[in-house]
Amino acid sequence: MVHNDKLCGWINNIPLRTNIKTINKNEVSDYLIVGAGYTGLSAARKLAELHSNKKIIIVDAQLAGEGASGRNSGYLVDTTLNDGFTSNKKLENYKKKTDIYKLGINSIKKFISEYQVDCDWNEAGKYFASSKIEDKKILINFAKTLSKLGFEYNFFSQKELNEILGTNFYKLALYTKGGILLHPGKLVRAMIDTLPKKIKLYENSTLLSWNKNKDLISCKFKNANIITKKIIFCTNGFLKTLGIKTNYNFPLTLTASMTRPLSNDEFTSIGKPIEWGVLPVKPMGATVRMTKDRRILIRNTAEVFNPFEMKESEIKKRSINQYISIKKRFPKLPSDIIESSWSGVVSRTRNSSQIFEKIDKNIFVAGCYNGSGIGVGTLFGEQIAIKASNQHSTEIEFIEKRIKPTWLPPEPFLSIGVKTRLIFERLKARSEI
Ligand SMILES: Cc1cc2nc3c(=O)[nH]c(=O)nc-3n(C[C@H](O)[C@H](O)[C@H](O)COP(=O)(O)OP(=O)(O)OC[C@H]3O[C@@H](n4cnc5c(N)ncnc54)[C@H](O)[C@@H]3O)c2cc1C
Repeated sequence: MVHNDKLCGWINNIPLRTNIKTINKNEVSDYLIVGAGYTGLSAARKLAELHSNKKIIIVDAQLAGEGASGRNSGYLVDTTLNDGFTSNKKLENYKKKTDIYKLGINSIKKFISEYQVDCDWNEAGKYFASSKIEDKKILINFAKTLSKLGFEYNFFSQKELNEILGTNFYKLALYTKGGILLHPGKLVRAMIDTLPKKIKLYENSTLLSWNKNKDLISCKFKNANIITKKIIFCTNGFLKTLGIKTNYNFPLTLTASMTRPLSNDEFTSIGKPIEWGVLPVKPMGATVRMTKDRRILIRNTAEVFNPFEMKESEIKKRSINQYISIKKRFPKLPSDIIESSWSGVVSRTRNSSQIFEKIDKNIFVAGCYNGSGIGVGTLFGEQIAIKASNQHSTEIEFIEKRIKPTWLPPEPFLSIGVKTRLIFERLKARSEI
């Protein structure tokens, strides 16, 4: 069972859902989608568009949209940081990645314009910032990559950043113009609210096991079964627990905290900055955001953890560290400023590539966005629905050109390896946490 904590500031910031249905009688379907986050909901919407007379069911172990899709930091990215490339081949592969990000942004833009969605969309760009002047080397190399691929960027000094962000913690930053900041909870809620009526959504309905029987797939839930002709797995951080691509992905648990909205005095004391988003130069550094409604969001952990739940007492420990991180950046803010802290599960692959494939006859999977799944998840959901319908698209051609995920060792070697790497990366990033 997936039990998420009820503490997420984004989810608690939108109205409570009603009319929740749980599966309690046997069903048959043409298409069953497992997982109702950005990926699964987009797959469902696209299937409904492609097939007017097929039976489509989507299930989720918890409430729809309350997995990583409602819990993330809300950066819809056009680029992710790299430390420069030593070969044209690598540059070409990075371009393929950014082509996919661009298609992801387009998918979301299309969705929000078609359904007039308010998700606090802000084309604010993003800052790759560091408190260590030595990191300039990394940013200069990254800038060379961006120049080659035609992305716009600027460098900012500590003084400039102090004025823009309201903190003098960062010594330098590279700003990229093309990223978007949004409210992830509002976005995924809109995807739920606009699901076509013909789709059956079952929530609090965990897929316990599944097996293929000739051309059909039998799926077992606590109080019922679904027999389906085709199945699409969109469970992202929970692919491995369902036995999907087990040697190609692994879950990581992240935690984040968000402050209450700053008071007028507090906001004035940091120079009234407009909404911004900072990403770390070192992978394990903190992601920090100032939201439209003057809250500060911080995410600074990534751990190998039991993916099913993080207890409140464990979240509390991480929340204390997140308070210290906020204090480092904004020393004038009071000690009772954090309003919510929560955990969320993401899926990783070894080489940061995504999973998008038919794994067997009538069985499809899309996931593993390595922490950048808002746009890519939405895109992959739509496109896996097209693939599962035996149709083609130019987007699928782009997706299939990407580097494929590479093999990972089995347990316990995998967890030992990942934990060691995370400790090493955390040590390297200790000033940025
Ligand atoms: C703290 C945090 C910060 C992040 N920040 C960003 C960011 O700034 N930008 C960005 O692009 N991405 C970010 N991400 C990653 C992003 O949220 C994910 O890549 C994206 O939400 C994946 O969407 P999804 O629909 O594939 O998966 P999810 O939203 O995780 O949906 C999967 C669903 O599957 C369900 N499920 C699992 N097992 C079962 C089962 N057995 N039966 C039925 N249902 C099941 C789960 O309940 C869940 O709702 C962040 C993630 C976290 C946790």
